[in-house]
Amino acid sequence: MLDRLRLGCHADAARPPFLPPAEGIKRLKIVDLTLPLPPGLKTNPTHPETIITDHVTHWFTAPRYQSPCKGYASKLLLICDHIGTHLDAPLHFIPGGKSMDAVPLENTLGEAIFLDVSDKPADQPVTVEIMEKKLAAKGEQIKPGDIVLLRTWPGKWGDAIFKAAGISWPAAKWLCARKIKSVGLDLPNADTGGDMQRPCHMELLGNEIGIIENLVNLDKLTKTRLFFIGLPLHFIGLTASPIRAIAVEEW
Ligand SMILES: [Zn+2]
Repeated sequence: MLDRLRLGCHADAARPPFLPPAEGIKRLKIVDLTLPLPPGLKTNPTHPETIITDHVTHWFTAPRYQSPCKGYASKLLLICDHIGTHLDAPLHFIPGGKSMDAVPLENTLGEAIFLDVSDKPADQPVTVEIMEKKLAAKGEQIKPGDIVLLRTWPGKWGDAIFKAAGISWPAAKWLCARKIKSVGLDLPNADTGGDMQRPCHMELLGNEIGIIENLVNLDKLTKTRLFFIGLPLHFIGLTASPIRAIAVEEW
């Protein structure tokens, strides 16, 4: 399946086309890895609350239209660019770094490897040893260009999540050395909250490797290798963007 999905295959005439045949789409199995965004949501204690309010309602605009049209409605959003399931751009921690609009779409589109390391203590970060052990147990390796998805703890999003530890600095360096495109996890912070040097963010974003935070439903994944899609919105100058993250497991 992943051969058919792999980007850049157009040049190789021997490979099937990127898009599956229409009948294949009927068997598509996707897992939505995205946190819903209700009004009032805050996904980091230092960030502002999400505001979703009416811009105009059907009742307000109806006089401008003719029956059977009952007018239109639209909403006004006031959100942090790090709200919910989102992708960090280098600019988040690197002054002068790339903003979201300059990050290649391929960084969060493509083959992913999923590692469930949620059996570690939640207050201990993800280490190189933990990842190597999981990879060895599955007979897998992280390849250049992979998107790495980590389930770091067994809880549901929001349950004491701000106390769970992220990725250790040596593990961030190890991921950079493997030339991955992005790493995603089920926490609001890829670093451990109390470490104000933010070594994981500095290392990964300094190497232009994407950080995806606040993934959910990782417990529903059944495959180690899958196709990941998590595209940022095309605002200009952002330090991050909400994404709709999905895993395509089969078709
Ligand atoms: Zn962020």
